[in-house]
Amino acid sequence: MPTLSKSKIIAFRQCPKRLWLEVHRPELRQDSPATQASFQVGYQVGDIARRIYDPFEAGVCIDVTKDGFPAAFKQSARLLAEGARPVFEAGFKSDGTIAFADVMIPVVEGECRSWKMVEVKSSTGVKDYHRDDVAVQSFLARAMGVNLSSACVAHIDSSWIYPGRGDYVGLLAESDLTGETIERAGEVSAWISGAHKIADSNLEPEIETGDQCHTPFECGFCGYCNRDKVPPEFPVDWLPRVTPKQRIAFKTAGAEDLRDVPEHLLSQKQRLVRDHTLRNEVFFDRETAKMAISGSGFPAYFLDFETSNRPVPIWAGNRPYQQIPFQFSLHKLMDSLLLEHSQFLDLSGNDPSRPFAEAVIDACGEVGPVFVYNAKFEKRILRELAARFLDLSPALHEIINRIIDLLPVAEKCFYAPSQCGSWSIKSVLPAAVPELSYNDLEGVRDGGMAVNAFAEAIDQKTTAERKEELRGQLSEYCKLDTLAMVGLWKCFLGLNKPEIAPLPASHN
Ligand code: SF4
Repeated sequence: MPTLSKSKIIAFRQCPKRLWLEVHRPELRQDSPATQASFQVGYQVGDIARRIYDPFEAGVCIDVTKDGFPAAFKQSARLLAEGARPVFEAGFKSDGTIAFADVMIPVVEGECRSWKMVEVKSSTGVKDYHRDDVAVQSFLARAMGVNLSSACVAHIDSSWIYPGRGDYVGLLAESDLTGETIERAGEVSAWISGAHKIADSNLEPEIETGDQCHTPFECGFCGYCNRDKVPPEFPVDWLPRVTPKQRIAFKTAGAEDLRDVPEHLLSQKQRLVRDHTLRNEVFFDRETAKMAISGSGFPAYFLDFETSNRPVPIWAGNRPYQQIPFQFSLHKLMDSLLLEHSQFLDLSGNDPSRPFAEAVIDACGEVGPVFVYNAKFEKRILRELAARFLDLSPALHEIINRIIDLLPVAEKCFYAPSQCGSWSIKSVLPAAVPELSYNDLEGVRDGGMAVNAFAEAIDQKTTAERKEELRGQLSEYCKLDTLAMVGLWKCFLGLNKPEIAPLPASHN
């Protein structure tokens, strides 16, 4: 009978087949880069939680990887019996099920000694699966005779502002779940016995893929479970703005391919996308596009930001997950169509916000439209900077007032089959501006890579040589974003002609 960890019980809650595969065929699991990144965020927040809950460093952290399971459980039992200091990663084992608690804090009230159990999460609120997690953890602790006075989830408080000097008190907000962990003991017991039944079987459960494959986590076995499934040639996922109601209607109609969706279920825009996709034709409403952007004047600026949003802020005055701008690229187009480029990139390791704000004010001049792609994002960053640096606020608001968004123009007037339902600039570019390509870039090719490159570049362990390499990659990447906007602007004005770009490789 295999021993099941808490995460396997949670896997069972998501899908019994997932649990079975985790136990019997773990080699088939392929975690997406997003899932792996979320593990890293979890470790980062976990480290800070130890500093918060153990400011005098009196606690003990149990290291199961180094010491092995038997020693870890023995040490946990001893420390919990002593009840003298905080314990991190304390192990509990009962009925073939194990769990490790992030934080155990001793509570002394008169003669009574008990424990406060804390599960640390990097999200900004409590999710349903966090509740399941704490319910399992508490169940096992109580089954081992641990006197729990409380059980809670500590999650990130996104309104907290980092005061600096390594003071992270206030980063985490606690939600007390003690009552429900007691009430749900019967439920947890049923999950544990159900999970063991599945894990003990030699037969793989027969379960079809469905919504459970993506909720609450992206399942790492999707590739395996879909191995015999022939993907639709023109997936319905390429349709824009599909409502939950439409999704259900498509499913009920058995329509996975654009050709199979009943006509009456589609909006006008969705029909347009379907028709041009099936005919392999570019849709381009030249006149409307031209009208939307012509007459805006010169010089015309094309602006794009890169930001970093760490769960644990490293600069005073920042909130958790706040988007901190560290780079912009700006192309300035004269009425002669002469193009100038300028940029800002701060890899000093200091808070780039103020130098960024000053540089963007300086670079954008005082007149002329400022074109961006998805104005909500750039406007939000500029507003946040204006709120932080009041002396710069009028100039930043001047820029906001000059912003013209190219995204709604693209959404309304342009669609090429190679976009596969996406209007991100990277999807629109191959058809609208075929001479530019993100594939030609070295290293950094998307926003996620830019964030990682920035984090690596400001890390003190990074060599000067590597930092310069990253600087070059970041500069080229952001520069291409604004050059792409210039190309799009020209395409909308009819100055260059869109082409039929090939569909992505997986759909050829
Ligand atoms: S991919 Fe879906 S069906 Fe397959 S194990 Fe995961 S959740 Fe279950």
